[in-house]
Amino acid sequence: MVAASLMAVALTASSAVSQPADPIGELLLRQGLETGPPATATTPALPVVIGVNLVEGPNRARFLIEISDPVDVKVFTLTNPNRVVIDMPEVLWRVQGEARPSGRGAVRSYRFGLFRKGNSRFVIDLAAPAKIEVPQVLAPDGAFSFRLSIDLTPTTPEAFVSNSGWPDGNQIASAEPPRAATPPPARTGGKRVIVVDAGHGGIDPGTHGVSGLQEKDIVLAVAKELRKTLEGSGRYATALTRDTDVFIPLRERVNISRAAKGDLFVSLHIDSNEQRSVRGASVYTLSESSSDRETQRLAEKENMSDVIAGVDLRGENSPVATILIDLAQRDTMNRSARFAETVVTSLPTATLVRPTTPHRSAGFAVLKAPDVPAVLIELGYLSNAKDEAEMATPAWRARVAQAIAKAIDSHFSVETAAPGRQAANP
Ligand code: ZN
Repeated sequence: MVAASLMAVALTASSAVSQPADPIGELLLRQGLETGPPATATTPALPVVIGVNLVEGPNRARFLIEISDPVDVKVFTLTNPNRVVIDMPEVLWRVQGEARPSGRGAVRSYRFGLFRKGNSRFVIDLAAPAKIEVPQVLAPDGAFSFRLSIDLTPTTPEAFVSNSGWPDGNQIASAEPPRAATPPPARTGGKRVIVVDAGHGGIDPGTHGVSGLQEKDIVLAVAKELRKTLEGSGRYATALTRDTDVFIPLRERVNISRAAKGDLFVSLHIDSNEQRSVRGASVYTLSESSSDRETQRLAEKENMSDVIAGVDLRGENSPVATILIDLAQRDTMNRSARFAETVVTSLPTATLVRPTTPHRSAGFAVLKAPDVPAVLIELGYLSNAKDEAEMATPAWRARVAQAIAKAIDSHFSVETAAPGRQAANP
């Protein structure tokens, strides 16, 4: 272990010199976006992760996760895509200066975050099959606190596949009924219930911009703004699928919407595109076949959320498998499409909307509730510098929330005015 600790010392020292201290965290803080629950007096003393270092050699890659207290971890590998999952009790991620993979070794990328209450997760995406050595906890040494050491060594594709799979007891308990992070009051006093779904969260950051802004943080900020606007009007009760930086599986988002007896489900996302000039918002509804190839690719990307987070879907019909739409769903789909058109009309007062076909459709798993009209709004492109700069401002978030609230108002005023619609929407 002498060689190991020497390597750790050398790498940490160099990364401390070459990397600014937590540029993303500072940026988000400046822009008023939340990076996670604040460490207040009411927060139980969770272990704090303060550093992630990566040492890459010709035949070994070593992650060193610096943490305030030793934690028990469970490590397993999954195929398709090949990745390493490290589960641990809930920790606070306060990482300063993350190490970047060189791109030449077995490590393609990595991410970390809250997977569900009480359970944090660290995921390594692999560029080549790897064998995972038993993780070691290194005792505090000099300037270092505890370090969790995880070694990856080369292996054959066959050996990787045969050693991969879900450990026992990993499945998300489905016995517990889904609950919204902010459930609507039991008696809504005749108010419509709007379910606001901030996409991604926790271990799944979604897309990110050049400045380091992350999709999961921006959509959560807009979701909270929308809740404030809707409830402030006195006409709506709201339920948020999440109101913190936590991962929620797609199926659970759908179940939350149904359990809250939502009158409308609004899922908020941000897109990215290799063509950096592409910008503007667009609105999506569910359909069996995609309206165009680009939308199909987008749906596939958004539907990957569960895979990215490492949700165990064994023994379940994956919500992503096939989108089969029954007859009862047709009315819901018609109302979803009408609402989407209303959003497309209302949004330009707040933000740029894509000039061509801003309303499209595909098999988005999160829109699958058969009885709750649902739309997914991509608020713009984090790959576009102008869009990203706007998204960083509280003024933009307030404008967008107001425009969506206005669309909700006109949607329900039309539905109430048309007697034929009322019967379908008790
Ligand atoms: Zn998204």
